[in-house]
Amino acid sequence: MERQAVQRAREAFLSGRTRPLEFRLQQLHALQKMIAEKETEIATALKQDINRSQYDTPLLELIGIENEIKLAVEKLGEWAAPRPAEKNLLTISDEVYIQPEPLGVVLIVGAWNYPWGLTLMPLVGAIAAGNAAVVKPSELSECSSLLLRALLPRYLDKDLYPVVTGSVSETQELLRLRFDHIVFTGSSTVAKLVMEAAARHLTPVTLELGGKSPCYIDKNCNIRVACRRITWGKFINCGQTCIAPDYILCEPCIQGRVVECIRQTLLEFYGADPKCSPDYGRIINQRHFNRIMGLMEGYTPVVGGQSDSSQRYIAPTVLKDVPPHSRLMQEEIFGPVLPIVTVSDMDNAITFINEREKPLALYIFCSDKKQCVNLILFLQSVNIHFVRKY
Ligand code: NAD
Repeated sequence: MERQAVQRAREAFLSGRTRPLEFRLQQLHALQKMIAEKETEIATALKQDINRSQYDTPLLELIGIENEIKLAVEKLGEWAAPRPAEKNLLTISDEVYIQPEPLGVVLIVGAWNYPWGLTLMPLVGAIAAGNAAVVKPSELSECSSLLLRALLPRYLDKDLYPVVTGSVSETQELLRLRFDHIVFTGSSTVAKLVMEAAARHLTPVTLELGGKSPCYIDKNCNIRVACRRITWGKFINCGQTCIAPDYILCEPCIQGRVVECIRQTLLEFYGADPKCSPDYGRIINQRHFNRIMGLMEGYTPVVGGQSDSSQRYIAPTVLKDVPPHSRLMQEEIFGPVLPIVTVSDMDNAITFINEREKPLALYIFCSDKKQCVNLILFLQSVNIHFVRKY
């Protein structure tokens, strides 16, 4: 089944029909039409998968996909055009230029937390570049995966962009086959298996992985605003976001105020009982529910802590004075649990971050621009995606 889908995609690619830019543009417009026409079905599938709020689906996934399509449509001519290149001794009498070429068949393996964005955004790039693409959504977000498999062939070329559903064995079967590029979004553990499989065919890979993204709150910033933003980013999608703030670093003198501000914001966002809020999500499956509950063991939450295994519900939870070397601080939390670790000052925060694995994002809440720049300069191992300034 997987083998046949890949074979059909390769034959369709070799037919040459992805070469003309008009074809690629037509496919991109068709994808845009699918998103516009099927927004309600997509939101319903995500409600079933993770109780996603109806407002969050356009905000967190669909608008991003539409913008990606718009960008590709606008820039495609420029991206596909030959680019001038410098001559050298070997090419002195030649006409030299760089011609972007489609690679062939791309494998896109997605994670479950944003199942549409994480599969369709790479697909936009694959289509724009004139490739065929085999899309493998995560088996954990089952309703979304099945809907994607039903919808895509109704809008796009059936042979060029097949959706293969299934779990680990189907993904492993796909990984045994030869692709011309692999885009993988998920955990570092599985990423190693993907790289290993890709190496057998010398296939290049693009990996979108996770990490523990810190938030540093400086004592002189507007703590209420900082906490409001952290609360939004942490608890949206029930904490199951790759760049969600994983933990807070702050000085002990502001810890109490931080906790209070988060408590007040949670009340405003999700009401007195977040379990009844239509805007608060659920954990994707029982295994992840147990994993997150296990991480909280031994702590007394200062906010939240309630859970209901039958619904895979974990309340937005804050833990204070978390020891820096506890298990909670070793692995990506990927759930609605927010630890606060106290540091003596900004230098201590820098050391703390530099001692750990490279995170995906870092959030700095600081009103002093000089201090902020100082912090960024001393961080050796961080990709700073967003810097919030006050
Ligand atoms: P995962 O690694 O468990 O699964 C990802 C994909 O790999 C799924 O499609 C799954 O079917 C497949 N898979 C699982 N086990 C496999 C195996 N043994 N062999 C082959 N394939 C296998 O990750 P997940 O739980 O779906 O996603 C959570 C992780 O993804 C978190 O670490 C999160 O931070 C990260 N993530 C990163 C980004 C980003 O853009 N950087 C976005 C979202 C999620």
